[in-house]
Amino acid sequence: MTSSFSNLSLAEPLARAVAEMGYESMTPIQAQAIPVVLTGKDVMGAAQTGTGKTAAFSLPLLQRLLKHENSSTSPARHPVRALVLLPTRELADQVAQQIALYAKYTKLRSTVVFGGMDMKPQTLELKKGVEVLVATPGRLLDHIEAKNAVLNQVEYVVLDEADRMLDIGFLPDLQRILSYLPKQRTTLLFSATFSPEIKRLAGSYLQDPITIEVARPNETASTVEQHFYSASDEDKRRAVHQVLRSREIKQAFIFVNSKLGCARLARSLEREGLKTAALHGDKSQDERLKALDAFKQGAVDLLVCTDVAARGLDIKDVPAVFNFDVPFNAEDYVHRIGRTGRAGASGLAVTLVSGSDGRLVADIEKLLKKKIEIEALEYDEDRPRGRINDGRRHWRDAEGGGDDSVEGNARGERAARAPRSPSRYAPAAPRDPFFEQPYETPADAPKPSWEAAERPSTGRVSPNIKPKRKVAALFKAQDPVA
Ligand code: AMP
Repeated sequence: MTSSFSNLSLAEPLARAVAEMGYESMTPIQAQAIPVVLTGKDVMGAAQTGTGKTAAFSLPLLQRLLKHENSSTSPARHPVRALVLLPTRELADQVAQQIALYAKYTKLRSTVVFGGMDMKPQTLELKKGVEVLVATPGRLLDHIEAKNAVLNQVEYVVLDEADRMLDIGFLPDLQRILSYLPKQRTTLLFSATFSPEIKRLAGSYLQDPITIEVARPNETASTVEQHFYSASDEDKRRAVHQVLRSREIKQAFIFVNSKLGCARLARSLEREGLKTAALHGDKSQDERLKALDAFKQGAVDLLVCTDVAARGLDIKDVPAVFNFDVPFNAEDYVHRIGRTGRAGASGLAVTLVSGSDGRLVADIEKLLKKKIEIEALEYDEDRPRGRINDGRRHWRDAEGGGDDSVEGNARGERAARAPRSPSRYAPAAPRDPFFEQPYETPADAPKPSWEAAERPSTGRVSPNIKPKRKVAALFKAQDPVA
């Protein structure tokens, strides 16, 4: 087996596009999958993210579709021949962009449809006719139902990141979509992991698939240096600063387990002087694409994200990934750290482990089949005492205060609500007994204006506002029962 694209006999327009991408040799998944897909066989591919699997399936698909190439303006001459399904909008967008690059010197048309965006422009594209349709399942079903997408001439279907599609609960949607496709077709299924559910899916929808496994399932890229540092919830942001500073890291993904934690952490890091954007499921599609774009352009240094939002994103040369929260699902660890060390580059993956994360770390150990050492992170002695970076926040403020407290997940929220133990690293706050006393109103103080103001005799501030329910009275009434 050769690893040079030149020995693949790719058609000239495709070979030209590949050369333009600057690829010198095939990645292992490409070297194995491209020749098989060129023969038209079904494939079940286990490939971790960042291995070049998009080109592994799209180049041979495009090559096989070249026989349908035509310049007709009639939509009927451009039916959907290849359908590529992905679990998230960002991933669909990214794969569609790559396919468009590989197909740019052909007359094959491609487009992408995903939710969260107006259906009309997508409908117009579909009505013009496209040979390659990239889609997320939900939005594709909307277009099928609206009769914008007709799939009865599909010859190839790709189920990419299939494990995540099942995780998200797309199985019923997938089954419906597959029922619209001709029985006679080639199906390619790619998944980072081969769980029993994935094998069942493959068993139902693939015919005598060739299994391609370049990296063992659940294996992390050897180019990624992995560290697990012990850090209490209070110290985690400080640990991020420390690693960024000591390793001179310019850009990183920071993973958290919840949308709420994602937004809050992004806000806190931004206040601490780091250019940060948040990427989570509650953000509008437009906001998500903008955040991603800002990160890609280098306008943003840290992208704080949840797993669903970040799945499969391909951003070149991200030097580091932080697991601010240890993932609840060990397989997500593999996906998260797959954001760095892509296509042979080296990367750093730092996982911050708090006291209650033991079981989650043990799950990762079991999955990776190797012992994880929890290291102590050394903090700089001369870290800024008063202000950091842009001088807007004091460490103690940043670590302890109200809205900025780390509330990444259930554990984080508990930690934030619980009385805080002073951080080992926080400078001692100046003590003044006056400020530690509970506040007491001086006996001769005038009544505050809101209490002194005359209330309307009805007890209502405005006829439109109903009086508040008397909660204390209600509790009292229930006392005897309790
Ligand atoms: P993927 O796993 O498809 O998301 O690809 C990961 C990244 O590797 C993308 O940025 C591709 O442009 C890049 N890539 C794909 N194939 C090659 C190759 N043969 N040589 C170098 N980079 C590649």
